[in-house]
This record gives sequence, structure tokens and C-alpha cells, in this order.
Amino acid sequence: MFRNAFKPGTEVPTSGAYWVHHYQHRVTHLVALWQGETFPRCGKCEDRVRFELSIDGSGAPHFSADPDFRAIPTDSSTLQGASG
Ligand SMILES: [Zn+2]
Repeated sequence: MFRNAFKPGTEVPTSGAYWVHHYQHRVTHLVALWQGETFPRCGKCEDRVRFELSIDGSGAPHFSADPDFRAIPTDSSTLQGASG
């Protein structure tokens, strides 16, 4: 686990660049988020994505420019429970 990781749906505590830790489908990358925004769900790994504040993240693109985070509906009722 990541000690200072934020989950999707959590309010961004401070503006800056964050490392994005996806679940298996993509390598870690940087995005910029502003204070007061909400950490977005990934379109692929959804709630499994984690965000970690980066010390030096200059030049990171805003998360909305990333195709994995575009226009994701905030409908939690679509979550499928694991079988069993
Ligand atoms: Zn993902």
C-alpha cells in the first residue's frame, strides 16, 4: 500500500502534482490537481486507482486532459459485487 495515498472521491487537500498509481493496466504517471477538487475515478481500474502527492511535479498535465479520467459518470450504483 501507499502510505499517503488518496482514494477516488476524496477532496484534494492541496494543489499540486500527484502520482497516479493504476491497478495493473497502466504505469504510474503524474497529473495536476487543484485544492478543492475531487480525486477522480479511473475509467479502467475505477476505485483501485490511488493518488500520491509529488514533491516535484512541474509540467504535469491536469487530470481532465488524461483520457482515463475524462467524463466519468459519478454513479456508484453501477458497481458490480464480486460473485460468491
Ligand atoms: Zn486506471
